[in-house]
Amino acid sequence: MSKILVTGGAGYIGSHTVRHLVREGAEVVVLDNLSEGHREALVDAEVLFVEGGIGDRALLRSVFEKHRPSAVIHFAAHAYVGESVEDPLKYYENNVAAPLVMLGVMREFDCRNIVFSSSCATYGEPEALPITEENPQHPINPYGRSKLMFEEVLKDCEVAWGLRSVCLRYFNACGCSEDGKIGEDHEPETHLIPLVLMSLTGGVERIRVFGTDYPTKDGTCIRDYIHVDDLASAHGLAVRYLENGGASEAINLGTGTGTSVQEIIDAAERISGKTVPVEHGPRRAGDPAELIADPSKAKRILGWKAERGIEVIVESAWRWFSGPRGGRYDADVGNAECVKGASRGRFKV
Ligand code: UDP
Repeated sequence: MSKILVTGGAGYIGSHTVRHLVREGAEVVVLDNLSEGHREALVDAEVLFVEGGIGDRALLRSVFEKHRPSAVIHFAAHAYVGESVEDPLKYYENNVAAPLVMLGVMREFDCRNIVFSSSCATYGEPEALPITEENPQHPINPYGRSKLMFEEVLKDCEVAWGLRSVCLRYFNACGCSEDGKIGEDHEPETHLIPLVLMSLTGGVERIRVFGTDYPTKDGTCIRDYIHVDDLASAHGLAVRYLENGGASEAINLGTGTGTSVQEIIDAAERISGKTVPVEHGPRRAGDPAELIADPSKAKRILGWKAERGIEVIVESAWRWFSGPRGGRYDADVGNAECVKGASRGRFKV
């Protein structure tokens, strides 16, 4: 594999993907402004880390000039649905406007392959289950709309200058690296599996189940939980697909299997041997009862299939959250070579 620029590579899905790419033999340059990522999540000494934002044209030019990546994997984005409702401009600025600068620089340097971190949030309320890529895209919050807008931008760039893209629409990303070295560390944490496990380590007092009256097998919401290392391998395959001349595609990444909130709690209790302190609460606004991917296109186009189920997901997350770090990165340290403030004239690689 060739040289890949990974934006947001110090974040949760980004850092697991970087590790996978390095193992596959790719040369990786990470661009991350550390607003949500962690330098410590870059555990491979071979990785070149550039601290900065995707909207910094001078910095991007210097990175492209120096490294000439043949593909970009673009993760850098904000991803809190609730926050996107309260502060939509933040989402349109960071998830749509800022990466336009990045695309402009890609065009200048004739880099025409991009793998984009999209989301099942672009579908909104599904028309039918399981959700295929042909399901109409009617997002119901600014986060989902920002992801859909950027998908559209990529299509226009293809018409104009031949950019080819794979938009990977993730379902519920979860789990941590199986050796416990890297994991999920969000501030604030809003996702189900981390919160359930944090309720067992004292990180939060209890877990509130948002709704027990859904028309599902046990009354709680059903989601398609996909292990972050399965997502990581799909990104590697998507880059390879584009570099081999593959056409632009939008592809769901999920398992095709639904798991309820209650089943997640049961798995956490089984794996930890502890009782989850649960409080039943009302439904959360905007939560559909059931979201399940049809992952058959990923198999057909990329030869990809999720390999890890709920047991591995919860086990690996439990290892991280109950481990020595307690689900937190310590400080701003790591093995990756670091270049800071390149746009301000201190670019030294
Ligand atoms: N959920 C919950 N309590 C929480 C957080 C989440 O019951 O404290 C439920 C939520 O309603 C949804 C599922 O867990 O059905 C997954 O939510 P999460 O926020 O992890 O991901 P989302 O599906 O919203 O992307």
